[in-house]
Amino acid sequence: MSIEKTVILPDGTALPRLGQGTWYMGDDSAAEAEEISTLRQGIDLGMTLIDTAEMYGNGRSEVLVGKAIKGIRDRVFLVSKVLPHNAGGSHLISSCESSLKRLGIDCLDLYLLHWRGQVPYAETVRGMEELIRAGKIKRWGVSNLDDDDMRELLSEPGAESCAVNQVLYHLGSRGIEYDLLPWQRQNHMPVMAYCPLAQAGQLRRNLVSDATLRQVAAEHNADPFQILLAWCIRQDDILAIPKAASLHHVTQNAAAADIVLSREQLQRLDQAFPAPNRPVPLDIV
Ligand code: NDP
Repeated sequence: MSIEKTVILPDGTALPRLGQGTWYMGDDSAAEAEEISTLRQGIDLGMTLIDTAEMYGNGRSEVLVGKAIKGIRDRVFLVSKVLPHNAGGSHLISSCESSLKRLGIDCLDLYLLHWRGQVPYAETVRGMEELIRAGKIKRWGVSNLDDDDMRELLSEPGAESCAVNQVLYHLGSRGIEYDLLPWQRQNHMPVMAYCPLAQAGQLRRNLVSDATLRQVAAEHNADPFQILLAWCIRQDDILAIPKAASLHHVTQNAAAADIVLSREQLQRLDQAFPAPNRPVPLDIV
């Protein structure tokens, strides 16, 4: 992956603009060996950020990631997420400790609130800061919060250290460009884009078959999925975490980081998939 394609966190840490998702990985023991070698191949190709969650397979995804990073933990930026009902008090501490155990590590690089639940933000922020002081996480962030939720979060003392917001974003779902993305830019908080491939196109009918997308892909001698990724990471404050469970897919995805879309190609994609000109509710899966 080209070295200049990074995203800088508020604390100055540089991350690759393409990382790796792991939802549904670890569920099928017959697929374990291939999934582990796929994640390791992705790391070798520069996709050194790995995203997981306590929710994924009830911890099975974290166990799989733990196996994949054995011996190479120092090369990887590890992200996990706490379920909303665990995001306060002693539950937050014990959820984090369980994730660390499953991953076989001492400290997470980034710990996210998976989505907003009943636990007040103030309690989650206090708990996250306690986890940092205890050396169990390096930084924290959130996921699936729209701009009004983000404003409310940031009014809590200590919340200004929130590192990222992980939200759904792909060419066929551009709602965040109207309000959330500009707000995050103003607050110097990168976006971590999940479902950047629209789950292999399943989240948006006719996305991958679209004639403009296919034409742009042909111009780069690439496939439409690679263009979806190149589009997602076209700016330096958005990183994407595609999930791939095969060596072929992960190799294709890493190569997408080297595709630079021209202004004219971006304009054609804008015409085919316009950004909204009014507020739209945050898309989620
Ligand atoms: P993606 O948009 O990443 O799509 C994954 C699908 O695309 C899989 O079916 C995969 O197939 C396929 N695929 C991968 N690479 C290619 C390729 N080069 N060509 C064709 N198909 C390809 O969906 P996800 O839902 O997995 O989102 C990515 C990650 O984001 C998750 O894994 C998870 O870590 C995170 N996430 C976070 C959420 C949150 O609430 N915070 C919600 C949803 C996701 P195969 O597996 O066979 O390789």
